[in-house]
Amino acid sequence: MSVMSKSKEKDTTQYDVVVVGAGNAALCAAVSAAEQGARVLVLERAPMSERGGNSAYSGGAIRVAYRGIDDLRAIMPDLSEDEIATTDFGTYDEDQFFDDLATLSHYRMNQDLVSTFVERSRETMLWMREHGVRFVPIYGRQAYKVDGRFKFWGGLTVEAVGGGQGLVDSLFHAATKMGVEIMYGARAVRLLRKDLEVCGVEVIYNQRSQPIYAAAVILASGGFHANAEWRARYLGPNWDLAKPRASRFNTGDGIRMALDIGAMPYGHWSGCHSVAYERNAPEYGEPGILGLQKNSFPMGIMVNARGERFFDEGADFRNYIYANLGRAILAQPEGIAWQIFDQHTAGLLSDEYRVKQITKVQADTLEALVEKMGDVNRRGFLEYIRRYNESVRVEIPFNPNIKDGRGTIGLPVPKTNWANPLSKPPYLAFAVTCGITFTYGGLRINTDAQVLDEEQAPIPGLYATGELVGGLYYGGYAGGAGLMSGAVFGRIAGSNAARRDK
Ligand SMILES: Cc1cc2nc3c(=O)[nH]c(=O)nc-3n(C[C@H](O)[C@H](O)[C@H](O)COP(=O)(O)OP(=O)(O)OC[C@H]3O[C@@H](n4cnc5c(N)ncnc54)[C@H](O)[C@@H]3O)c2cc1C
Repeated sequence: MSVMSKSKEKDTTQYDVVVVGAGNAALCAAVSAAEQGARVLVLERAPMSERGGNSAYSGGAIRVAYRGIDDLRAIMPDLSEDEIATTDFGTYDEDQFFDDLATLSHYRMNQDLVSTFVERSRETMLWMREHGVRFVPIYGRQAYKVDGRFKFWGGLTVEAVGGGQGLVDSLFHAATKMGVEIMYGARAVRLLRKDLEVCGVEVIYNQRSQPIYAAAVILASGGFHANAEWRARYLGPNWDLAKPRASRFNTGDGIRMALDIGAMPYGHWSGCHSVAYERNAPEYGEPGILGLQKNSFPMGIMVNARGERFFDEGADFRNYIYANLGRAILAQPEGIAWQIFDQHTAGLLSDEYRVKQITKVQADTLEALVEKMGDVNRRGFLEYIRRYNESVRVEIPFNPNIKDGRGTIGLPVPKTNWANPLSKPPYLAFAVTCGITFTYGGLRINTDAQVLDEEQAPIPGLYATGELVGGLYYGGYAGGAGLMSGAVFGRIAGSNAARRDK
C-alpha cells in the first residue's frame, strides 16, 4: 500500500484511485479498481438527478464481436427459443468489427487501441454481466421483419436493458455494492502532482476548492460537445450553433486538465459525432428522449431550404453513416433540412418519429406539404421531387434488410439503396438540424489506458478512458462503439490504477 493509503478507512481526502466522471467508462473503471481491492472515489460534476453523463442519454446499444448464436447466448442468457427460431442474428467477428472501424476512420485510427477494444469486447460484456448489467437484442432499431423473420443488420445486435439509463443504473448499483464512494456536484478542475507523478485532483465542491489525493487518477469526464466556445474553436465555424444532444457537463475539463500538465493532444480534434436532430429541441438533451434524433432517413429523402437533396441517404445502413449527417445538415443554408417519407416506408419509421416533441407536417399532396414546411423553396422542391421520382430504379425490388441496390440514376447526389418514388400519400415531413453527440479529439493513451505525454511516455499515476480518448474515430463512427471502448479501457484503467497502489 502507498504511504497515502495508511489511514484510508476514515480519510475523505485520500483514496487509492479517484475516477473523474460517472458515465459508463468511469463506472467500469471504478468497479474494476474496486475488484482489485482499491478504495475508490468517483467524482461526478452533475447532481445526483443528472448523473451518468452521455451514457445515461444513450440508447445503450453496444457493439460486440460474436461468432454466432452461442456467443450471443452467453451475453444474453434470457434469449428465448422462439426469438432464436425467428431471428437471423448472423455473425460479427473481430475482423469485421475491426474492419468497420478502420474503414470508417479511413485507416487513420490507432490500430493498437482499436485492436484492444475489439478483441476484448466480448469478455468485457461478460464481465459487465457478472456485475449485473443485462443485455437484450435491439429488435426495435437494428432489425426489420421480412417474411416473418427478423434479420439484424449493421453489426449492432445488443443493447443494455433499460437503454443507457438502465446501463448506468446497473453500474452505479454494482459500484456502490463494492464500496465505491460517489461524490455528486463535485467538479474536478486541476490535477495535483508530486514531482512529475499525478497524486490527486483539486475539486470544487459546495463552492469550495479542496484537494483529494490518490495513488492514481482516472479521467473519464467525456469530451467537449457541451462547450460552445471549444466547438467553434476546434470543430469550426457555426459549430457553436449545433444542438448538444446530451449531458451539459461534458465541457472538456478532463482533457484540459491533462493538457495543462503536458499530455499529448490526439485524434480528430475537428471531428465529432453529429446527427439529424429535432430542429426545435431544447438547449441540451433531455434524458429518456432518444427520439429527438431522426435516424430512419435511409427510408426516405432529405431536402434543404432550396428543396434539393444533399446527402446519399442510402449510401449504407444508417449506423455507418448517421454520425456524419449532422455535419452535412449544418453545412446547408440556415443549417436546416427536412426528412420526407410517404406511405411506401412510413410503417418502417422507428419510434423516434412518434415522440411528442417533434416538428412534423403531413399533407395529401406534395404542393400542400411544401406549403406547410414553410421554409423550403416551393418551385425548387416540386421540380426536384419530379426529377427524383423519375430517377428511381423501380425495376429493382425494395428490401430494407439488405443493401438492395434500388438506387437513383442521373441525379447529382445519388441515393444508392432503398429509393422509392414519393408518390403514395399522405406525405410526412420532419424538421431537423445538426445535433452534436460527442467529440472525437482528446488525449492519447496506450493499451494499458495510461495517458501519454508529448514525448509519448506514460504520465505516472494518470489513466483515461471513454469519450475523451483520441485516436479511435476519424471522420466516421460505428454505432455502439462508444460504450464498448469506454467499458474496455475503463476496465483496463481501473485494474491498472489499482495495482499501481499496491
Ligand atoms: C443521445 C445519445 C445516444 C447515444 N447512443 C449510443 C449508443 O446506443 N451506443 C453507444 O455506444 N454510444 C452511444 N452514444 C455515445 C455514448 O453515449 C458515449 O460514447 C459514451 O456514453 C461516453 O461515455 P463516457 O463515460 O466516456 O462519458 P459520459 O457518459 O459522458 O460521462 C462523462 C462524465 O463526466 C462527468 N464530468 C464532466 N466533467 C467533469 C468534471 N470536471 N469533474 C467531474 N465529473 C465531470 C459528467 O457529468 C459525466 O458523468 C450516444 C450518445 C448520445 C448523446
